[in-house]
Amino acid sequence: MKNLTDISQVRAALEKNGIRLSKGMGQNFLINPSVCPRMAEMCGADDTTGVLEIGPGIGVLTVELAKLARKVVAVELDTRLEGLLAENLSPYPNAEVVWGDVMELDVPALLSEKFADCERIVVCANLPYYITSPIIMMLLESRLPIESITVMVQKEAADRMCAKVGSRASGAVTVAVWHYSEPEILFKVSAGSFLPPPKVDSAVMRLMVRQQPEYDVGDEGRFRALVKAGFSQRRKTLVNSVCSDRRFGKDAVCAALEAMGLEQNARIEQLTMEQLAELSRRLG
Ligand code: SAM
Repeated sequence: MKNLTDISQVRAALEKNGIRLSKGMGQNFLINPSVCPRMAEMCGADDTTGVLEIGPGIGVLTVELAKLARKVVAVELDTRLEGLLAENLSPYPNAEVVWGDVMELDVPALLSEKFADCERIVVCANLPYYITSPIIMMLLESRLPIESITVMVQKEAADRMCAKVGSRASGAVTVAVWHYSEPEILFKVSAGSFLPPPKVDSAVMRLMVRQQPEYDVGDEGRFRALVKAGFSQRRKTLVNSVCSDRRFGKDAVCAALEAMGLEQNARIEQLTMEQLAELSRRLG
């Protein structure tokens, strides 16, 4: 294909290859020519960088990344795209496709195998929206040797992940994102930039991965369980929501809140990151 953002060329190429875009696989392909070069630039790819892309589609972002990076490895689930991707990536020998479900791959092994000759690794992707949060959580919780994650997600998801911890807009995913990274919304992208257009607008956000979490939470598993239980019933008081997980006893939670000078009827969304970390340590 000559122009990967020309809607009639994209339609014709998909038709020629007998591909109907799948909603189930989150296939909304970018056709706005300004978005991918901007994402590639803002993810910080240069000739020392290995880039992991998730869901290359027909390669519209992959080629922009390959122009700047040392190497691009793109994980794609839909093998129907094989012919089109091979054709579109043929001018870029530094771009490689790995076929499979990113959630089932051994990503740490993939990174060390593919990017041994790169000084730094970043993730850049237009994520399939049906598994945005699981992918981001997997990337962050695996403590991969990545510098940053620059991804397009639904605008609402970006707002939630980048919200302030301790505000009403926050959720369990907000806490996890801030724990492992410093998130920032870079720019918004209208629904009309995609084929087919999704129902909602999108945004590109960048998570700068922290070398070490900002606050000591004690045991990471306990911290995750605390946050998950707390936000699963966020309208209840923290004491009641957290105790829905049997590992946390009511008396211990009440005592911890008191020792921290917090009200017994506090809700989890009112606690700052520092307070959540302290609560987790105290419940250890
Ligand atoms: N990068 C292309 C673009 O910007 O136009 C396509 C982005 S589209 C929103 C998401 C892509 O992720 C699709 O190509 C889809 O087939 C792929 N995908 C969906 N689920 C996946 C999974 N579990 N693992 C890897 N790729 C997946």
